[in-house]
Amino acid sequence: LVSINHLTKTYQRGPEKVEVLHGINLDIAKGDFVALMGPSGSGKSTLLNLIGGLDNPSSGEITIEGERIDRMSPGQLSQWRSRHVGFVFQFYNLMPALTAQKNVELPLLLSPLGGAQRKRNAEIALTLVGLAERRSHRPNELSGGQQQRVAIARAIVSDPTLLICDEPTGDLDRQSAEEILNLLRLLNREHGKTIVMVTHDPKAAEYATHTLHLDKGTLVEQQPGAH
Ligand code: ATP
Ligand code: MG
Repeated sequence: LVSINHLTKTYQRGPEKVEVLHGINLDIAKGDFVALMGPSGSGKSTLLNLIGGLDNPSSGEITIEGERIDRMSPGQLSQWRSRHVGFVFQFYNLMPALTAQKNVELPLLLSPLGGAQRKRNAEIALTLVGLAERRSHRPNELSGGQQQRVAIARAIVSDPTLLICDEPTGDLDRQSAEEILNLLRLLNREHGKTIVMVTHDPKAAEYATHTLHLDKGTLVEQQPGAH
């Protein structure tokens, strides 16, 4: 599903150029649930953002579902993202003024679906994450775990193949974290979502089918997880 070859990323830091990813090679198969671990600053978010088409690499190739995304323009990338990728972040990134329902409908505003169908699809996604009865609540009326479930509903409402999660349980207590991880595992096993998740938590990585370790911009090992 995802094929990455000789990927590098260089950032301009003041007058200097700093390479933060050094020739990454990586294949992710459809149906994998990958945990990406490593020290702070090792390049995890940078790699995740490149896989999700939020940024262009400095060199190398990224092929996802047969499409080369590494040289796409910002406009092409945003089109591509809306069809193929859902994003989940540590701090949920929900719109505070909108209800759960309206937050989940947001990605569909770019689609050709009519209002009634958008509403129905958002309800289906909210039901899947177990929050149908909270659809009229605003983010500040929901717990952190519930807000993250709304964010996951928003990430899957367009039915993307790939789910990109950057420390999705980083701001949650143990129990809410486990609920989120169980939900991600369900989406992986029962709904065919391929997941790439950055985490600092070895317990979270146990939910994945594969664990990758980044160290100073290099993948250092690859081991099977406990699925
Ligand atoms: P953390 O666990 O703290 O989230 P990370 O592994 O996700 O860390 P990245 O955010 O990918 O690390 O950052 C890798 C390196 O790239 C760091 O040295 C960081 O300072 C640098 N970096 C990240 N984004 C930028 C940017 N937009 N411009 C310049 N440097 C950046
Ligand atoms: Mg990060």
